[in-house]
Amino acid sequence: MFSDIPVSVGPMNEGERVRGPDMYVELAGPKSYGFELVKVVDKADDKVEIVGKDIDEMEEGSRTPFAIIVKVSGEKLEEDLEGVLERRVHEFFNYMEGVMHLNQRDQVWIRINKDSFNKGLRLEHIGKVIQRLFKAEFPFIEKCDVILITDPDKVKEELEKAREIYNKRDERTKALHEEDVDVFYGCIMCQSFAPTHVCVITPDRPALCGGINYLDARAAAKIDPNGPIFEIPKGECLDEKLGVYSGVNEVVKERSQGTVEEVALHSALEKPCTSCGCFEAVVFYIPEIDGFGIAHRGFKGETPMGIPFSTLAGQCSGGKQVPGFLGVSIAYMKSSKFLQGDGGWERVVWLPKELKERVKEAIPEELYDKIATEEDVKTTDELAKFLKEKGHPCAERIGAAEVEEITEEVEVEEEMEEEVGGIEIPTMTLPGTFAGLPSGIKIVLQNAVIKAERIIITKEDDKKKKKR
Ligand code: SF4
Repeated sequence: MFSDIPVSVGPMNEGERVRGPDMYVELAGPKSYGFELVKVVDKADDKVEIVGKDIDEMEEGSRTPFAIIVKVSGEKLEEDLEGVLERRVHEFFNYMEGVMHLNQRDQVWIRINKDSFNKGLRLEHIGKVIQRLFKAEFPFIEKCDVILITDPDKVKEELEKAREIYNKRDERTKALHEEDVDVFYGCIMCQSFAPTHVCVITPDRPALCGGINYLDARAAAKIDPNGPIFEIPKGECLDEKLGVYSGVNEVVKERSQGTVEEVALHSALEKPCTSCGCFEAVVFYIPEIDGFGIAHRGFKGETPMGIPFSTLAGQCSGGKQVPGFLGVSIAYMKSSKFLQGDGGWERVVWLPKELKERVKEAIPEELYDKIATEEDVKTTDELAKFLKEKGHPCAERIGAAEVEEITEEVEVEEEMEEEVGGIEIPTMTLPGTFAGLPSGIKIVLQNAVIKAERIIITKEDDKKKKKR
């Protein structure tokens, strides 16, 4: 695509993963810090600037703090577009061969593989690619500066300023609600890896990646009506509490190629929205408690279910609609409509301490101490005990839920039913005669947690097969 860039650049490289042994260097990421930011400025100079060490000055296999600041100028540009432009940084990084970019804002995580480093890829090239792709994709960007920072102190200093900007962006929609508008917005930018995923963005429901709020989406749809962000006329409100709208259902069905027929904007249990994989946090139902836990991307421990964020994320990513699991943004957790169809904050029983602190102002004061963190409990039994001691609203239902479960277990045996408490249990279809079983048998792994270090798929050698 670019003759002066030593690696290939284009959508064919999207989805490439850089695993630890292949990595030359890691920029930002969960074990370091960093961010990405797009700013609309009056006048950019079309420059690429490196602040700190370049890749060839870093030790092989090392990680370093990293920031990318993109300043854009142009007559048609407005501040509301910053969030949407910023979201494209992810895609443009992933266009580069041997470069992996995950997440967004202050959660970015970038790896560059050894092959691309050996071909000569340096920060200057990355800056040029980002600059050119922005100008090619958005003709209304007249000038574009790309500043790449690897100096740890400078990254830290700029990170604080970036966080203030993210907060201000999220605050702008606070006075606006779903009842006040006739149009919502949809985004299908993530369909490249989650083909049936459609984000529905409303004033009360910022996108799950945390990068696009209602005003960002409105500005994007206005300036690029044929782009990945589009209007959704909200139509008739079919269920106010759950957040079901006829217009949303129509558009989601069409844009998910008929896979998803109906969504409730404010429920994790009933027809939840699809999740792509970019979510900042995942809401998960805990059947024993009849309440929700929430884990964010930065949480490295185990939830009371005994599994980490990554396993939970795998349950609902890829554009699937999975009742009981929902990818959300931190900003949505601060919305007055957060999970209102399921009982809102009264139904939340566990979240990591760091996340609890971040959303403190959104949690009703009387509930704050009644919600457990990883420091209070380690298992669901401990969680049940904690909730009863603290008088959490869910505690009243814990005993009742156990009785319901016993009743339902009997039904499960009799009817081979796969629904428990309204939650669809993930099932696996196995080939007929698997493990000597007759065909037509369904195996239900209820509440099972399966961990696999690796899955190895090999073609069986016919000759060896005959010898057996
Ligand atoms: S997560 Fe949603 S809003 Fe964010 S880029 Fe992907 S599709 Fe768009």
